[in-house]
Amino acid sequence: MNTHSHTLQAAAARYKSARNPVTLTGAGISVECGIPDFRSPGGLWSQFAPEEYGTLSVFLSDPAKAWKLYRALEQTIAGKKPGPAHFALAELESRGKLAGVITQNIDCLHTAAGSQNVLEVHGEYQHLHCLTCGDLRPVRPSDREEEIPTCQKCDFPLKPNVVLFEEWVRKMDHVEELMENTDLMLVIGTSAQVFPVAELPHRIIEKGGTIIEFNVESTLLTPAAEFCFQGEAGHTVPLFARELLGG
Ligand code: NAD
Repeated sequence: MNTHSHTLQAAAARYKSARNPVTLTGAGISVECGIPDFRSPGGLWSQFAPEEYGTLSVFLSDPAKAWKLYRALEQTIAGKKPGPAHFALAELESRGKLAGVITQNIDCLHTAAGSQNVLEVHGEYQHLHCLTCGDLRPVRPSDREEEIPTCQKCDFPLKPNVVLFEEWVRKMDHVEELMENTDLMLVIGTSAQVFPVAELPHRIIEKGGTIIEFNVESTLLTPAAEFCFQGEAGHTVPLFARELLGG
């Protein structure tokens, strides 16, 4: 597991022969941008236990708790900029070499980097959603002053547009379209443990396709990946993109 040039060349050669390559990203791609993952010691989950703050039932019974978690989340994410790995993926897509990005991240950094076909399966942090009337609107500065912002139309507490535990993941129809048409997935900065997204790389492998993994450490997926580039995504992903695009 390294980024030696012959391995990069072999991975790039495989990529060039693949059908409509796609990418799956997770929290690790944004760590170098200043957004820590939630699982590490001191991460958000150690301050706000998901079962106590991050479920749909909690939002419905005690929205103030879910809002506490969201406020901490927003503080962590707001103002952060995409990193070299996000830009490298946007460039691959703009050069017609990447069909889309499936992301578990809610930080909107892929879109900020210029990626177009971004499937945010766990939602995003920049909008609020009314579960009663379906209204979806951008977060406003005044939302930071109210304890729980409510819907102007029906007065129901607004829910941050992020997927809570017990909620369905989003965009799975589009994800399925990408999955049907590809035989290669770049898996970047994810422990690949959160279902149903975690099963996507395994489906590629089952149909004889290729996984190219980028992570700082080994994961449960590593033994099944054809290529693994160990190191920070901000280094390894642009290196791979340069090998692919030449120059
Ligand atoms: P995870 O925390 O389970 O795994 C993160 C992975 O990234 C780990 O395998 C880690 O080794 C790797 N990693 C850490 N730093 C890296 C780096 N610099 N370069 C490459 N890899 C690196 O994250 P997950 O698999 O995305 O699942 C966690 C859930 O939490 C997701 O559902 C996601 O929605 C949410 N989350 C989102 C954000 C965000 O939007 N930026 C941040 C934290 C958590």
